Amino acid sequence: MSVPPEEGQLLSVLLKLMNAKKTIEIGVFTGYSLLATALALPKDGQITAIDCDKSTYEIGLPFIEKAGVEHKIDFIESEALPVLDKMLQEEPKDEDLYDFAFVDADKPNYGEYHERLLKLVRVGGAIAYDNTLWMGTVAATEEDEDEDDPLSPQEKLDREALVELNKFLAGDPRIEMSQVSVGDGLTICRRLY
Ligand code: SAH
Ligand code: CA
Repeated sequence: MSVPPEEGQLLSVLLKLMNAKKTIEIGVFTGYSLLATALALPKDGQITAIDCDKSTYEIGLPFIEKAGVEHKIDFIESEALPVLDKMLQEEPKDEDLYDFAFVDADKPNYGEYHERLLKLVRVGGAIAYDNTLWMGTVAATEEDEDEDDPLSPQEKLDREALVELNKFLAGDPRIEMSQVSVGDGLTICRRLY
């Protein structure tokens, strides 16, 4: 489930170009994209990493420790939505806002994450959504479906959610965006206001 290395490199270059210091990641799994992020941030960089399952994070943690970047990570084991809602309730000041967010958890909630992250990421900062091409199936018709390798019912629901998200983001005036065909599709959104 991890992003491929070339996508990790893209994230790393993007974070360095932006001079990102403070980021949030939703959906950690074993921490590959998290490690790429932690390596790209400066020594005093901070990442809030949220996943409902800590056991997979713990598989990758020894590698994060070996890389000497564990001190940058605040891991929160939780469903992501309540954590974001709590952050918003605390009325974050400008200096509390994030430079960058990487979203790679449950696809049907991406729209909910978007609304909250547009308040938690600073103007000029970026939110990146992973898997927005969903193996190319977001552009497929019913007839295109591969009979030998059909999508599971959950994958179909995820596909529908991502088709809706892609439509929504393309028309969202609060952002400018670029959908990059790296990995399984990465949509990078820059907050305009
Ligand atoms: N970003 C990682 C891969 C993440 S895989 C990488 O590229 O290396 C998706 C992760 O999202 C899984 O670990 C899963 O536990 C987590 N997840 C799914 N639904 C979630 C939710 N509602 N809240 C928080 N985490 C969730
Ligand atoms: Ca992913």
